[in-house]
Amino acid sequence: MIDYNKYEAVIGLEVHAQLLTESKLFCSDSAAFGGAPNTHVSPITLGHPGTLPRMNQKAVEYAVKLGLACHCEIAAENYFARKNYFYPDLPKGYQVSQHTAPICVGGHVAITTAEGERNIQLNRIHLEEDAGKSLHDQEPDNTMVDYNRAGVPLVEIVTEPDLHTGDEAYAYLTALRRLVRYLGVCDGNMEEGSMRCDANISIRLKGATTLGTKVEVKNMNSIRNVKRAIENEVKRQIELVENDGTIVQETRSFDAANGSSFPLRSKEEANDYRYFPEPDLAPFRLTAAFLAAIKASLPALPDELVQLYTTQYGLPEYDARVLCDDKATADYFAQVIAVSPQYKAAANWLLGPVKQYLNEHSIGAEQFPLPAASLADLMGLVESGKVNFSIASSRIFPEMIQQPGKKALEIATALNLLQDTNADNITPIIDEVLAKYPGKVAEYKAGKKGLIGLFVGEVMKRSQGKADPKLTNQLLAERLK
Ligand code: ADP
Ligand code: MG
Repeated sequence: MIDYNKYEAVIGLEVHAQLLTESKLFCSDSAAFGGAPNTHVSPITLGHPGTLPRMNQKAVEYAVKLGLACHCEIAAENYFARKNYFYPDLPKGYQVSQHTAPICVGGHVAITTAEGERNIQLNRIHLEEDAGKSLHDQEPDNTMVDYNRAGVPLVEIVTEPDLHTGDEAYAYLTALRRLVRYLGVCDGNMEEGSMRCDANISIRLKGATTLGTKVEVKNMNSIRNVKRAIENEVKRQIELVENDGTIVQETRSFDAANGSSFPLRSKEEANDYRYFPEPDLAPFRLTAAFLAAIKASLPALPDELVQLYTTQYGLPEYDARVLCDDKATADYFAQVIAVSPQYKAAANWLLGPVKQYLNEHSIGAEQFPLPAASLADLMGLVESGKVNFSIASSRIFPEMIQQPGKKALEIATALNLLQDTNADNITPIIDEVLAKYPGKVAEYKAGKKGLIGLFVGEVMKRSQGKADPKLTNQLLAERLK
């Protein structure tokens, strides 16, 4: 029997994130995803002789944004280097990268797991260009290459070997993806490959302080698959060691279909990249003014918002986390409470009817058709006691989405849904209800005061939710004296 608990896994993650710039890192070719193969490709992307790269300032801005949000130190002096290797998807025969001198150093990303909150330490964030794409499934005997992706700006975000479980990796990648989306620097889409993760994994006996031999696992196309790949690799390594085997430093590819991995290459086949400073690009310096402007442009980040919502707005931690899960929802919430500062009511609407609508239509909050001011208007109608929440959410809310120009009160009036505050209408219903439950009335009179709820509920039902609950309670209490 293998005692898996004797061991501790040590994991470092390398994430490549495509930056959402319009053009490529060193030329004006489109950096958009997709497009017919080899249409976003000028001689500069292909590195033809005589062409010269030119730095994309937006990419630098985005890298710095991410660096500041991750509490990194930002390097003022920067340059790029050539990483030389041959591969068909690399048209120039080298990749231009900041591998030797990253723009962002250190920093951390906060994660929350079942064990609580913790900072995952970063080693660096650096800029580099993406490679093209080899397509093996277009023709039976040939591999095709699409260079559209070549030269698209990437940041590589590298952690220290600071993670220990698949769950931590899952939480880290979720937090990182949320962050790049908040900042608008990357769409965070792992399925399309605009965010890609390689996991470096080793094991050691619990309590040991030295690092074991690492294995790098690649080709996971979702956060869930990164977690699966890590759990599978940790298990493989423990079983190997327990069976007197030796872990070799290698790169493996994860196969999501059967949940295991196979070796791609070993350390012996590793390249000597012959780094040297890119001679065609001048080193560049970030001025204090440039950094200050970026700092000033940073939006409120999810962790700060959760803090604000729980401490200042008194929202439960759960509500705050769900609201801040994506920026569009948080922005919408902010717009609602700007008009109507009923924090908990706004949260209930967003976590309830709005979220349900978004799920049913498979859209994000940015595509939600009802303006925030209209939702605030509807909340006001509930607050004033003119309709109850149940009627507002089930009847008026869908109607408002159909007719976004109309006021909540107009719709409620047109649909005859306004709460009845007229005692002359409610009293007869009360009499009907009391006549129907003589036994319960006797019990109530004998002291079982909780039964008032039953009577109120029955009156509400018979009035189709329109009887004003406060008035109903009053009238009932009088009738039952
Ligand atoms: P490489 O140059 O091979 O990419 P690095 O030293 O730059 O290697 O590290 C790459 C990633 O691997 C980093 O995230 C780092 O934290 C992680 N790492 C390094 N050594 C180990 C190890 N022994 N076990 C687990 N992860 C490791
Ligand atoms: Mg690596």
